[in-house]
Amino acid sequence: MTKPLFSLEVFPPKRTAPVGTIYDTLDGLRGVDPAFISVTYGTGKQSDRTATARIANTIRTEYGIPAVAHLTCQYLTREQADEALDMFVQAKVAAVLALRGDRNPEREPAGVFHHASDLAAYIRRTHPEMAVYGACYPECHPQSRDLDEDIAHLRLKVDAGASHLISQLFYDDRDFLRFLDKARAAGIDVPIEAGIMPVTNAASVRRMTGMCSSKVPERLAVMLDRWGDDPATLREAGIIYASEQIADLVARGVDGIHLYTMNHPGVTRRIWANVKGLFH
Ligand code: FAD
Repeated sequence: MTKPLFSLEVFPPKRTAPVGTIYDTLDGLRGVDPAFISVTYGTGKQSDRTATARIANTIRTEYGIPAVAHLTCQYLTREQADEALDMFVQAKVAAVLALRGDRNPEREPAGVFHHASDLAAYIRRTHPEMAVYGACYPECHPQSRDLDEDIAHLRLKVDAGASHLISQLFYDDRDFLRFLDKARAAGIDVPIEAGIMPVTNAASVRRMTGMCSSKVPERLAVMLDRWGDDPATLREAGIIYASEQIADLVARGVDGIHLYTMNHPGVTRRIWANVKGLFH
């Protein structure tokens, strides 16, 4: 039996947040033992284009953990993509998570990279030494007609060079397992990590599941109803819920777990304490 992977995701602090915020997050994650930490890439007008590379570099050099840099491509010109990739080379990232990014109706795409697979292929061609990861959607990407179509597109992304996949959040393990079976049947044989987002407050679960078209299973809905106005208790229930999801998925032999920390190191540490024995 191969050992499952455990990895984390953090995001760059808002420009308005104090500079040290990311250190608070990373310091708070000490003691957790991830195979890598991935750093998201902001697409907003206010986003700092250098933040992902800088934080990835900090994670590697100051915390000794391999870093994966996210990069969204639909609004990038070729020159901007080259610039971002150069920064990732300097930061010695372990891999680039090639993404399209969400559509912003107020912005016109640059028209160079239409899908994540275009960026994956571009990185393969221009930086053959760099590993490329990709995103996947157990409950189907909201823009796809159905899961079969979405998986056919995912296959293109893997064929274009994505050698490792990380899933969108889901709260019903059966959705992930169904997706996994279909992906394997479609010939996708790269490692697929299950994305777990702990519940920390009711509004954010409703917002995130709405955005991703993810289901809220009845078992979670009753928790949100009961403790929606009691964030401390909901957070406790969320830690148990995420830990149980991880135990179930690891027992079923998944390749790995990617925990969305939401920059909440306390919650991540508690979950790690519950599940670390499963990752020997
Ligand atoms: P794609 O793989 O391009 O897929 C998008 C849609 O296009 C899907 O419906 C797909 O089926 C379809 N499609 C793909 N290829 C083709 C094709 N060749 N022909 C026709 N249709 C096609 N967003 C951020 O802004 N920053 C982040 O850091 C970030 N990190 C993320 C990390 C993970 C693990 C995940 C799951 C998502 C992340 N996102 C992030 C959100 C992501 O950008 C959105 O979900 C976006 O809508 C899709 O990105 P993608 O890379 O999956 O796109």
